[in-house]
Amino acid sequence: MLNIVLFGPPGAGKGTQSAKLVKKYGLVHLSTGDVFRYNIKNQTDLGVLAKFYMDKGDLVPDKVTIDMLEAEVKKNPSAQGFIFDGFPRTIAQAEALDALMLEKNTTVHLMLSLDVPEDELVSRLLLRGEESGRADDQNEEIIRNRIQVYNNQTAVAASFYDKQNKYFPINGVGSIDNIFDQLCEVIDKFN
Ligand code: AMP
Repeated sequence: MLNIVLFGPPGAGKGTQSAKLVKKYGLVHLSTGDVFRYNIKNQTDLGVLAKFYMDKGDLVPDKVTIDMLEAEVKKNPSAQGFIFDGFPRTIAQAEALDALMLEKNTTVHLMLSLDVPEDELVSRLLLRGEESGRADDQNEEIIRNRIQVYNNQTAVAASFYDKQNKYFPINGVGSIDNIFDQLCEVIDKFN
């Protein structure tokens, strides 16, 4: 198996690069943000709960998020590997993911982190908000809060993987193909 955490602040390009990585490596893409949005659209209990936090740009509580992620992993018993996009976002989530992978006799092999400066993130997200209509991308105050939440609560997860020598930062500014090539270089060296 090959399990990759694709990391980085909101607007770093995780979704775009995940789609390309899935195609090349045949992995299952799990985006916690996408699963929450699917639940919001279908007005499930989980969706109603998640919306409360997402509307403000805050994190959905760990327990809810971890249970949901575990259920998604279990829906894919024959996966050759996973790309985790937007998860883990806290140390508690990183620990839960380690335990879940261990249960499957595997591990998280790599954390690839897309580094993008804050001003570039804000303009990318506002543009995405205009194009997609995504509510949390349309308000600069919410965007700034999401970036602050990333800096205060999520960025520490990088050190969790760094300690295990699994952390690889990549410059997330440039052409989509060039960034993709850099990601593939790290993966291919590892594989
Ligand atoms: P994303 O699509 O990854 O930018 O996520 C959108 C929103 O979903 C975030 O701002 C959070 O409110 C929520 N969310 C997504 N993934 C997580 C996670 N791993 N932990 C907590 N909240 C999350």
